[in-house]
Amino acid sequence: TLNVATIVAEGARRHRTKAAVVTAMPDGVHELTYGDLWERVRATAGGLRSRGVQRGDRVAVMLPNVPEFLVAYFAVLAMGAVVVPIHLLFKREEITHVLSRSGARVLVAAGSVLGEAAPAAADTGALVVGVGAGEDVVSLTALASEGEPLDAVVATNPLDPATILFTSGTTGQPKGAVGSHFALVEQVNVCIIDVFDLREEDVVFGGLPLFHTFGQTVVMNTTLRRGATIVLLPRFDAATALQLCTDQQVTAFLGVPTMFIALLGAAEQHDARPPFRWCVSGGAALPAAVLERFESTFHAPIQEGYGMTETSPVISVNPRGVPSRAGSVGPAVWGVDVVVADAEIEGRIVPVPVGEPGEIVVRGHNLFLGYLDDPESTEAAMADGYLRTGDIGVLSEDGYVSIVDRKKDLILRNGYNVYPSEIEAVLHRHEDVASAAVFGVDHPVHGQEVHAAVVLRDGAAGSDAVDAFVREHVASFKYPRVFHVVDTLPIGPSGKVLRRELTRQYSA
Ligand code: ATP
Ligand code: MG
Repeated sequence: TLNVATIVAEGARRHRTKAAVVTAMPDGVHELTYGDLWERVRATAGGLRSRGVQRGDRVAVMLPNVPEFLVAYFAVLAMGAVVVPIHLLFKREEITHVLSRSGARVLVAAGSVLGEAAPAAADTGALVVGVGAGEDVVSLTALASEGEPLDAVVATNPLDPATILFTSGTTGQPKGAVGSHFALVEQVNVCIIDVFDLREEDVVFGGLPLFHTFGQTVVMNTTLRRGATIVLLPRFDAATALQLCTDQQVTAFLGVPTMFIALLGAAEQHDARPPFRWCVSGGAALPAAVLERFESTFHAPIQEGYGMTETSPVISVNPRGVPSRAGSVGPAVWGVDVVVADAEIEGRIVPVPVGEPGEIVVRGHNLFLGYLDDPESTEAAMADGYLRTGDIGVLSEDGYVSIVDRKKDLILRNGYNVYPSEIEAVLHRHEDVASAAVFGVDHPVHGQEVHAAVVLRDGAAGSDAVDAFVREHVASFKYPRVFHVVDTLPIGPSGKVLRRELTRQYSA
């Protein structure tokens, strides 16, 4: 049956007694088998149906990485309804906006977010179903005992919507991207067949947020489709992650660059070393120096990949089994075409010569169905049947994609283009730098000035040595003139550094 939820129905048939999900809770480690997961999914789908939810209806889910996320997610999909996962950090107004724009009839929410979520649901008339909430809301468990369990996963049409996922909000307000069952299932298969060395005996780290495309499709659904085990971490914290991965013998670590950096930091303080066999970084540029340090500390290769919510999400990944090509995010995955096009062209796509920078545009099985309730934005994002990614990239002779940076993050100083990622990569090469971000701030004379925010490693004296190092390695028109030594960088809901937040903070 074509449906993302077939992953759990088939999983139960093939691996009934195997642990699908392992969760570290304050009171110990909990296991949920493939068989039990499917039983809970069927029962919950039955409960939703008894409350009037029908095929095509939307159900919002606002939960951290706990087993109930999977139960609610697959229950909604199994009955042919559409899941709308909500960023955990959203406030009442944003939740109201999502609920009303999506027309969600039900909101499954954690007790910890009900302060924001309950009034939002009241505003829109959505039924609140609680997880770890008080007596005054229906619990997910109670809902599961209402009605008859679903017999089998509902067959969907390939292009039926399955999920409405929000982008990370790195460049502005998060946008809801509607994904189809076909794209989501196909992406999982491509990850397993072509991209990862994922084996049934693998134990996969589940610390990326499940409400975001990377954690949801690439980690959760891919792991379960393969019959492996996912280890959930409700809230990412590097020291906890390091210990958990060691205790649970995690063999595959997938994360955004800030997680790799944080794990390296934790490894300086703790001796625990998990038995990682393969790792995947995506979501933002992984500085080459971080990749090298991580690989030599953890003795496992990192495959760097590139994707976005609108492309369900994988576009390209460095192949398994060979070292990642420095500075590259690999060739396009199976069924996906990448073209580097003249960034200024509207309407028709004109490729630039090999090796020249331009806007990355993408076509293939993985394209979204459009932005939620926003045909104008969808139209603006498409050209000639391709999705405009908003990323500037270069294509090599043999089809490897390298990302220069986001178009929106380009800094224009004295008429020269400065791409923050390039400077950030140099900063990360210095041993005093734990993490760094480069961003533009408006300047009366230069148009914009290049700033750097740097988190120093313990024991570093100050930023002078780092400053001198960068001046030595990059041209004078682009090195950061202003250094800010900070304790932490602002990070968005999917774990990415928010340069726009730094720009806002340091603008006079
Ligand atoms: P928003 O669209 O709301 O501003 P976002 O673009 O960060 O947020 P996502 O869909 O989570 O939301 O991320 C997709 C973007 O992440 C890509 O367009 C690209 O800019 C960036 N990205 C993903 N992988 C990489 C990578 N390996 N290197 C550099 N950038 C990457
Ligand atoms: Mg985006």
